[in-house]
Amino acid sequence: MNPCSISVILISHLHGDHFADIPFFMFDKFFNGSDEKTIIYCPEGTKKKIEGLFYLMFPADFEKVQDESNVEFREFSKLEREEVLPNIYVDSFLVDHGNCKPAYGFTIERDGKIVGLSGDSKLCSEVEQIVEKSDVAVLDASFIEKGEISHMGLVDMEELFEQYPNKKIIPTHMHDETKKMARKMDNPNFIVLNDGEEFEF
Ligand SMILES: [Zn+2]
Repeated sequence: MNPCSISVILISHLHGDHFADIPFFMFDKFFNGSDEKTIIYCPEGTKKKIEGLFYLMFPADFEKVQDESNVEFREFSKLEREEVLPNIYVDSFLVDHGNCKPAYGFTIERDGKIVGLSGDSKLCSEVEQIVEKSDVAVLDASFIEKGEISHMGLVDMEELFEQYPNKKIIPTHMHDETKKMARKMDNPNFIVLNDGEEFEF
């Protein structure tokens, strides 16, 4: 897939591994002359942070690059059945990512099917809500053990399966050792994918 054709981006929280590549994305669209509009839904204060990053790395005009790359920042504190694309609806959930606040998870609904995203979070009631509402949930499973402070682990996945045995869970944000262990978990509803791999349900 050509990244320049991405029409919607959801930013869950402002840790560098979740937003620091946006200036490069903007330049990619700027130089490739993309007509496709990209709307970036993001926590309040994101645009200012990205502008700061941009000027740290490039002596260019942020507003001009933003305008010509056809990127719009839409900052939110809550999304409620937001129609981000025709017939695609997003809800946001305030999750618990330790001292990184705000941190959001999402549900994305199309044609009655729902994908959940925990963003980065420890196991909390909002993550449970996301799993409960979703057919497939993509969850932060950083650690092998139970996550304590700001992420989940494979033990948290097992706890969620006890509560929601019929839901499908795709782990993400895994450390290398966690990924090896995740592949050994014997549960057909626990789906370990490689980066870029697609999953249909
Ligand atoms: Zn994070």
